[in-house]
Amino acid sequence: MLMTEPSIVRTSTAELYDAHVMKNYARAPMTLVRGRGTQVWDDAGNVYLDFTSGIAVSALGHCHPHWVATVQRQAGELIHVSNLFRNPNQGELAKRIVGYAGPGRVFFCNSGAEADEAMIKLARLHGVRKAGGEEGKCYKVIVAKNAFHGRMFGGMSATPQEKIQKGFRPLVPGFLVGELNNVESFAALVDDSTAAILVESIQGEAGINPCTPDFLRGLRKLCDEKNLLLMLDEVQCGIARTGKFYAFEHAGVRPDVIAMAKGLGGGMPIGAVWAGQKAADLFQPGNHGTTFGGTPLACAAGLATLDVIEREGLLAHVTKASVLWHEALRQLLKDFPQHIADVRGKGFLVGVQMTGDIGPWVVALRERGLLVVSSGNNVIRFLPPLVATAAELAQSVDIFLSALVAKS
Ligand SMILES: *Cc1c(COP(=O)(O)O)cnc(C)c1O
Repeated sequence: MLMTEPSIVRTSTAELYDAHVMKNYARAPMTLVRGRGTQVWDDAGNVYLDFTSGIAVSALGHCHPHWVATVQRQAGELIHVSNLFRNPNQGELAKRIVGYAGPGRVFFCNSGAEADEAMIKLARLHGVRKAGGEEGKCYKVIVAKNAFHGRMFGGMSATPQEKIQKGFRPLVPGFLVGELNNVESFAALVDDSTAAILVESIQGEAGINPCTPDFLRGLRKLCDEKNLLLMLDEVQCGIARTGKFYAFEHAGVRPDVIAMAKGLGGGMPIGAVWAGQKAADLFQPGNHGTTFGGTPLACAAGLATLDVIEREGLLAHVTKASVLWHEALRQLLKDFPQHIADVRGKGFLVGVQMTGDIGPWVVALRERGLLVVSSGNNVIRFLPPLVATAAELAQSVDIFLSALVAKS
């Protein structure tokens, strides 16, 4: 095409999306351009309380000064080197994660899905070792009904939800499905071909469904008895979101493998898999890798995120601030039983199950200045950044109340 005069009419973002961006999202009709702390602005100048946190990613809120300074400094020093070389930040961040997770080793990648894929590959290698080196004998992984483990082929095959698997069969074989919070249903599926059990400590996409402490302890025992890896997907519920660094800590168990991502980079794409002694040495040169995982820049963002979580006491803050917030939400449940069916979750990962279609509720909240995410079929998911203040939490309840009153 010949270039003529530069157009003076700038194509709107909405038009650009309509014309050029794939249509795999039902997006809200708005364009976000700026953020600070818990607040985010659209291109029309409207300000919102952001209780999506980019789906549990922006743990420190938007543009936390320590995070920004760290990333800016690192960007001017060294952004990317391959994993064929060491870089100081990756070593440091691995050490910090081991400090939270326990003795073991860390593999870095770029997303939750990649962390889940790496975890599933560890299960395969564990199975081969269990079967005395033979492939194809011990490879099965038991997952929970309604689980979500990402959109790549391994994780998607581990995600027993029709809406996610439809159109993509044949899937990766070897995934069996147990009932959440029913250890016997998992135990009944275990045989010599089983390599691992994989669950989310709190199911994030299926409506905020927590594993009970007894269930996690029961799975731990089952895995010990049958030499299975207990693999926990903490991609959404981990990194301080529930008031503990990992959500499984509430149950007092230690898994063999942990997948994490979302909140770990405070906004920078980063994923990680921690493996304890039983699985830490399964990956050897050549059998797994990634070009981008663990770059100096991504790990600087991870380190800055952990710095802020520690220095600002965000574990204690989430634990303390969520008490009154949960109480206020449960009061709404009492006052509006015609609209609200349940309030559940932990810390700053909360699901409010509605009695009807949630689409209109998400819109009603947005129109009142509160951004939330849906989860499952009928759950409104509240994911404030870990730095959200008691006043901002209370404001979210006020906005919710006003939407409830308007519909009653
Ligand atoms: C979001 C999520 C994933 C996938 O992470 P991506 O970064 O979107 O690939 C996997 N598991 C759980 C539990 C998640 O919440």
